Amino acid sequence: MDMGRKSDERVAIVTGGSRGIGRAICLELANDGYFVLINYRSDEKGAVETLGMMQDAGSDGEIIKFDVSDPVETKRALDEVISRFDRIEVLVNNAGITSDGLFVFMSEGEWDSVIDTSLKGFYNMTRPIIEKMIANKRGCIVSIASVSALIGHRGQANYSAAKAGLIGASRSVASEVARLGVRVNVVAPGLIQTDMIQDVPRNIIKDMIPMARVGRPEEVAKVVRFLCSEDASYITGQVISVNGGMV
Ligand code: NDP
Repeated sequence: MDMGRKSDERVAIVTGGSRGIGRAICLELANDGYFVLINYRSDEKGAVETLGMMQDAGSDGEIIKFDVSDPVETKRALDEVISRFDRIEVLVNNAGITSDGLFVFMSEGEWDSVIDTSLKGFYNMTRPIIEKMIANKRGCIVSIASVSALIGHRGQANYSAAKAGLIGASRSVASEVARLGVRVNVVAPGLIQTDMIQDVPRNIIKDMIPMARVGRPEEVAKVVRFLCSEDASYITGQVISVNGGMV
């Protein structure tokens, strides 16, 4: 992060922006005129690539390394961000992991790591940022859940719990801040072509999806972009599915 820079640009923060859906969201928001802060956990090369793609398209941003599941690391990073940028208008809680396995064999570590990334990550990110948004009377928060929150997939009890929790928390927070100029929504993708689903056999995928194809990251990112725009000014507390007709 460029520590010297002071800015009054419209800022969007996207967690997990080094690849996949998060990268596509960074590019869409950059195209909409936001200065995008690209969070990543470990893949600095990927985050730099995302920034380069944004810059090639005439936009700008910065990369920020921290682990959203770590409250201390996240607080330190966000304190810095909040002190430097006045107009933090968008937060996208996109970072997420899977650690699949049948529940009967699931270790506490497998349970905790998935919950800590998606759900505790939501808390770690959203609590400080929403305070700033409320003070500004303007803001939009979108969290990326999953079709797994809506229908129970075998082997994903931890992931379904984390993503369903994200929906519950978002709806609750949405009603708390609806009169304060801040909107809070959720996008629930189905199967999207990223590293996360590279091990899922294609024939299984086709049978699961009425449209018989996986989605592209941009197809999720464009919905996020819409929800963060003035065109969605009367939408809050909602879950929008992007899944080729799965539910
Ligand atoms: P990827 O595995 O391709 O990318 C995950 C991103 O999250 C990476 O940028 C990674 O950073 C980052 N990340 C993971 N853990 C942390 C952490 N603790 N702190 C900060 N960043 C972290 O995933 P997708 O793009 O496929 O998924 C994005 C979101 O969409 C996730 O929440 C996922 O659950 C959800 N989703 C995905 C679906 C799919 O089919 N792909 C379907 C439904 C929902 P780094 O590379 O630096 O480690």
